[in-house]
Amino acid sequence: MSTLLIATHNAHKVAEIQAILGSSFRCLTLDNFAAAPAVVEDADTFAGNAFKKARTLTSWLAQQPTPMEAIQFVLADDSGLEVDVLNGAPGVYSARFAALDAKGHGNTPDADNNAKLLRLLGEVPREKRTARFRCVIALVPVRASDTDADSPTFDGACEGRIDFAPRGLGGFGYDPLFVPDGFKESFAELGEEVKNRLSHRAKALEKLRTWFASQG
Ligand code: IMP
Repeated sequence: MSTLLIATHNAHKVAEIQAILGSSFRCLTLDNFAAAPAVVEDADTFAGNAFKKARTLTSWLAQQPTPMEAIQFVLADDSGLEVDVLNGAPGVYSARFAALDAKGHGNTPDADNNAKLLRLLGEVPREKRTARFRCVIALVPVRASDTDADSPTFDGACEGRIDFAPRGLGGFGYDPLFVPDGFKESFAELGEEVKNRLSHRAKALEKLRTWFASQG
């Protein structure tokens, strides 16, 4: 049994990770560690933010007087939406897209982020509204050196396009606007089971699972 600390409070993400990795992994979350430091996600790449989150937590774990629940790895992910006609925006700023004009740093409500995206895209025609969700996962061993060389990353992308209006009640974030390739419905209409087969996060997690299997 391997024990991982997942660097998130998001129960949905943890359930997805636990489901894909299976029962030979024990996934703890930041909810299990109220004293864990918060991390400002201010790197300019998904990998940079994922490593920043994971390294902050491995350093914190190393300073604790007694080993914490035999945690072997910290797993951190960062994800976001890239829209081609906006040169890859909102990208790493996906969670706080609506606050960028006001130089804000806190996350903004999904509805505000979606409204800004629709406003910026305006009447850009359907064929030019191509976009993708991207996810990078960093896996840092708790007893790793300070370099990232011994810490693998796993990435995943899901291609699609941005619709002209939100549709559907499921999911979160930009799901009501994102129509994955091969479908007419948005992620919010398709529901969790379909999304979890296609998603950027599912693809990165599948690579992570394969990596663990190859380690014996
Ligand atoms: P984080 O990786 O949890 O920091 O996510 C960053 C932001 O990207 C979220 O707040 C969402 O706005 C967006 N995002 C990431 N993954 C998804 C997804 O699966 N659906 C919709 N939006 C997403």
